[in-house]
Parts: sequence; C-alpha cells; structure tokens
Amino acid sequence: MSGADFEASIGKVDGDLYGLMVREQGRQRAGLEMIASENFVPRAILEAQGSILTNKYAEGYPHKKYYGGCEFVEEIEDLAIRRAKELFGAEHANVQPHSGTTANMAVYFAVMKPGDTMLAMKLDQGGHLSHGHPLNFTGLIYNVVGYGVRPDTETIDYDQVRQLALEHRPRVIVAGASAYPRFIDFEAFARIAQEVGAVLMVDMAHIAGLVAGGVHPSPVPHADFVTTTTHKTLRGPRGALVLCRSQYAAQLDRTVFPGIQGGPLVHVMAGKAVCFHLAMREDFKEYARNVVLNAKALAEALMDRGFRLVSGGTDNHLLLVDLRSKGITGKEAEVLLDRIGIACNKNMIPFDPEKPMVASGIRLGTAALTTRGLGPVEMRTIAEIIDRAIALRDNHQELERLAGQVREMSLAFPLYTSMREPWVEAR
Ligand SMILES: *Cc1c(COP(=O)(O)O)cnc(C)c1O
Repeated sequence: MSGADFEASIGKVDGDLYGLMVREQGRQRAGLEMIASENFVPRAILEAQGSILTNKYAEGYPHKKYYGGCEFVEEIEDLAIRRAKELFGAEHANVQPHSGTTANMAVYFAVMKPGDTMLAMKLDQGGHLSHGHPLNFTGLIYNVVGYGVRPDTETIDYDQVRQLALEHRPRVIVAGASAYPRFIDFEAFARIAQEVGAVLMVDMAHIAGLVAGGVHPSPVPHADFVTTTTHKTLRGPRGALVLCRSQYAAQLDRTVFPGIQGGPLVHVMAGKAVCFHLAMREDFKEYARNVVLNAKALAEALMDRGFRLVSGGTDNHLLLVDLRSKGITGKEAEVLLDRIGIACNKNMIPFDPEKPMVASGIRLGTAALTTRGLGPVEMRTIAEIIDRAIALRDNHQELERLAGQVREMSLAFPLYTSMREPWVEAR
C-alpha cells in the first residue's frame, strides 16, 4: 500500500469489498429485519467499532495490563465495567468476551472440570448450541442433561428441572434460551440450584435489552453468573459480557484471560461502554417497552389470522409460529418470506415432528423493527403480508405485489440517514 492510500477509504482501495458493502446496506434499508437475534446499532456504536481503538493491544485487566501505553484504553475498559455493573446491578463484570459462546465457555471452565454434569434447556425446545449441542464443545466435554417445556402449556417444566437436578446432581444449571417466548422464572431456578448445590448460570443473550429496559424480570439477584451477548435486544456491538457475584470474580477473570482469550478488542469494549450508557437512558426504556408491545401486537394479529403461536403468545421480543395448520414447513416459509423481503428463520417448535433442517415453525422478533421506528399498526400490516404470502405462495403476481409493499414500508422508516459512512462518501 502506497503512502497515499493509507488514508484512503474502502471505496478507493478495495472496489470488490466496497460493492458488497453497498449492496448489504441496501438490503438492510429495503427489507424488514425480523430475525429475533438481530438489531441495528446506533451510529455512536458504529463509530466506536470503526475507530483507532482497534490498533491497541491491552492484554490483562485495567491497572494490571501487560503492555505499555494502556493508560487510556484501560480507562475505557473501566468505564464499560462500571456501566455494566450499574446497568444490571451486578457485583462484578467482565467485558472482554468476544462472543456469547466464549462468555459461556468462560463460566463453564471457571466452575467445571471435563466430564462434569450440566443441566440446560434442550436445543429443540429453545436452548442454544453452547448449552450442550453434541458438536459444540459443551457436548464434547461435559455430560449434558436437557430439560424442556411441558407439552400442555409449552412453558418450562420446572418440576422436570427439579427432578433432573435431584437425579443427576449437575455442577451447573443453565437457564436461558434462544427461542423461548415467555418470561423465565429465575427465582425457581435459583431455588432448585440451591437445593442440589449447583451453580446457576443465566444466559440472557436474547433478553438482555428487555432486562436493562425494565420490562423483563432480572436474573442478576438470583444467579451466580449471568452471561449475555451485547448485540441482540441490548443493541450494542457484536460481543458479550459476563456478570457474577464477587466471590467468583477472580476465577472468572482468569478464565477469560489468559484462559480462553488473548488480547481484548478495545474498539468493541468501547462500543459496549456506549451501549451500556445508552441503555441507562429513558429513551431506551421506551424502546424496550415498544419491543414488547410490538411483539404482542404481532402475536395478536397472527392469531386473529388463524396462526397458532407456541405457548399461545409472548412476554418478550419474539414469537414462535407453528405453521402446521397452514400446510407449509418452516424451511419453506423462511425462503418464501425472504423472497418478499422479510428476514426471519425457520425454527423447531416443541416436540416438532420435522427434522431440524426443515422444522415446523418460524421465529419472529421485533427488536430491529422497533429500533427502526415501526409500531403496532405496521405489525398488523406485517401479519397480513405474512398471511397472504403463505396463502397465495404460488401466485407470482401477488408475491411481487407483497414484495413491493414490504419495500415501501421499510423505506418509509429510514435507517442511518444522517450518516455518511466514510466508505460510502469517498469513492
Ligand atoms: C445468541 C446466543 C448465544 C451466542 O452468541 P454468539 O455471540 O453467537 O456466540 C448464546 N446464548 C444464547 C441463549 C443465545 O441466544
């Protein structure tokens, strides 16, 4: 790279990448993002992540760093830690984990030995890969026992959790899920963990923004460890956070570094600091309330149109739609909705007769759309669009019309307009 190009933008130095980024930006602007784990971050977070902070190595923890020149970046990490503790009312916070999976790994490694037993939600009933999937490190290293939901209510079977805990005496009990539309009773989990002498880890990756916004009960008072991603409903940079009781602080920090990671990503920790700062504001509470109101509005509208929802509704930001009564699989619905500009994912429903790659349901989330400004009126229109697309899926003309409607609705809620990304500007 010549000296002149060192300060040139992406458009100038890499046309291939530039073209793809512009196309992705167009896709984000013109479509309805309903993948429950996604969101749009505020510009301030994009700025932190795209900043000169990426240049710094900062192995270790604030005021005990292994490199020189850390006097400013350790203040940044401290700021993120202080804000995380304040936001969630936690005794200790580690803001270094690169992802939700490594955050969970840090906790498991801190308190379990290979071969130990962990009790977590079954994957096909809403759990996450890092809670014991056979191909995940958890499934390979630990003896995983899975709990699930009750067939009648499709809500967590707390009696079963207790029975399995008494029977298997797990070292760790994991509460938290990727596809569970109801509140989780963290107190009930804490009682069971206490009864069997297990460590309780709550993985609040999906609901952290709702907890921060005060519309979902907090697990922090009840759990030994709370892990979360920062990029889902919390609306921060792609990364993770672990909170724990003081008694586990040193053990946890050692496990994150040098246990499973090298240098932390300072630009991402800066993004987390902004994220926690914004999440303490009144307008974030309003966002969180609206995420739930939108989910409830969408749920009502879909049920009015004859869709069955797992557990009969939602308490949080997501819904699981059982598509069997509509004669379409989750896989087919995902492709169909993508064709008209609605992004969502196929999902197993509890006791699903289909294979995971086919699945009988789809998972829909409202966090990203709420960030963009859509409200209950749009949720009802979206329910109508989904219903028509599925009912008339062989009618190309109708699908074209619905795609146009989706595009028009999306573009009516502009995204990053005040922003001229440097890479877009300087071609
Ligand atoms: C998304 C998610 C994770 C993992 O996050 P990654 O950053 O993708 O590793 C962990 N646990 C739960 C419950 C999740 O939903």
